[in-house]
Amino acid sequence: MKRLFHSLFGARLAPQSQPSHSRRTTMRRIAIVGAGQAGLQLALGLLAKGYQVTLTTNRTAEEVRNGKVMSSQCMFHSALQTERDLGLNFWEDECPAVEGIGLTVPHPERPGERLFSWSARLERYAQSVDQRVKMPVWMEEFQRRGGELVIQDVGLEELERLSASHDLVLLAAGKGEIVNLFPRDTARTRFQQPQRALALTYVKGMAPMSPFSRVAFNLIPGVGEYFVFPCLTTSGPCEIMVFEGIPGGPMDCWQGVTAPEQHLEKSLEIVRRYLPWEAERCQSLELTDDKGFLSGRFTPMVRKPVLELPSGRHVFGMADALVVNDPITGQGSNNAAKCSRVYLDAILAQGDQPFTSGWMHQTFERYWDYAQHVVSWTNSMLLPPAPHLLELLGAASQSRALASVITNGFDDPRRFAPWWFDAASCQDLIHKLSRQAA
Ligand SMILES: Cc1cc2nc3c(=O)[nH]c(=O)nc-3n(C[C@H](O)[C@H](O)[C@H](O)COP(=O)(O)OP(=O)(O)OC[C@H]3O[C@@H](n4cnc5c(N)ncnc54)[C@H](O)[C@@H]3O)c2cc1C
Repeated sequence: MKRLFHSLFGARLAPQSQPSHSRRTTMRRIAIVGAGQAGLQLALGLLAKGYQVTLTTNRTAEEVRNGKVMSSQCMFHSALQTERDLGLNFWEDECPAVEGIGLTVPHPERPGERLFSWSARLERYAQSVDQRVKMPVWMEEFQRRGGELVIQDVGLEELERLSASHDLVLLAAGKGEIVNLFPRDTARTRFQQPQRALALTYVKGMAPMSPFSRVAFNLIPGVGEYFVFPCLTTSGPCEIMVFEGIPGGPMDCWQGVTAPEQHLEKSLEIVRRYLPWEAERCQSLELTDDKGFLSGRFTPMVRKPVLELPSGRHVFGMADALVVNDPITGQGSNNAAKCSRVYLDAILAQGDQPFTSGWMHQTFERYWDYAQHVVSWTNSMLLPPAPHLLELLGAASQSRALASVITNGFDDPRRFAPWWFDAASCQDLIHKLSRQAA
């Protein structure tokens, strides 16, 4: 409804194209490479403030809309708020709400039984809008609001050209090959190889969770993780099944699975084998569409934020191009939205001053102040759990307060420090919150 209203009256609703930042006197030209969560959100935010924005990306809106799924993109409240602040939450009314988070660990010795299980409500709901729905509409919106959209696969040569004609060039190319131009930050990168074999299966017909919808996490020791939650896809509401297989283990099983039906069958096979309570929800599943599946793997990594071109000019990276996490904690799109907000504020605050390499480093560090917490928490989930974490997760099944603290950390992983990482603080938290419950 909101979207319909928007497309009918959008011209009148569109933000003023007058420069609104008081320190700025001339029209500044910003180039952004990559039309994903980070690039598009920043591009639309800058347009609304009167900047001249060129967005170059390697796929048309139609190609994205008709292509394969790319992510499970569950976004929590504060990331969703960054979209609302820019008037970009076109799907808020039709997208199913994710109201909570649950965790189940199967019993290692008694197949088919749970070792423990808990769930808690999020203070405010999360939502997942299929990127095939969101990005094409944002691309069209960007053009409608006066942005210049260029479809091109960008390489070094194009970066040189863009940097010669723009005041600032941002590279938001996600996991695209080109981001390897940014050197790896070895001090901030924990892993040298992919830590999980990933797969996504978008489905219709799954029985909903009650009494509230949730991300239902299942942590299968030695095998990997399976989580599932509601989403809005191209044909309406659906559920996304996400598989995170430990490399070389039984859930690292997607090689040669290329046909849609084969992928769905493999998904069901895993769920039936390890998680009968999830299999019960899957009695009459079908894929949302023949592009509603994905498998692959990548290495979580942090890169240096500034690329110096042969000309001596600089390109500034953002979001996944610089800080790419394993999806196990569902943070990438959240990070992209938050990074985009930090960069938007920094660009506006710079007024007419040049975007120097020093400014780029400083701006990235402001984002890193936040992102480092996501990185360390996500990395900890990829390693065999420390004893205090096992105790914490088990204790949450006896304490609503503990379950709630863990659940609500997903919206802002800074909340996990220090107790997630430190055994003594963790003990204190368990005792404090368990006493509260008693
Ligand atoms: C299996 C899986 C599940 C996930 N689940 C979640 C989740 O539940 N929650 C969550 O928050 N995140 C999740 N993520 C992560 C999330 O999707 C990403 O972190 C997020 O999309 C990153 O946004 P971005 O804008 O940095 O990059 P992207 O969204 O990847 O956008 C990059 C853009 O750059 C373009 N591009 C690339 N190379 C070039 C080039 N050379 N020239 C021009 N254009 C180029 C691409 O076409 C694209 O438009 C998941 C990821 C995966 C793989």
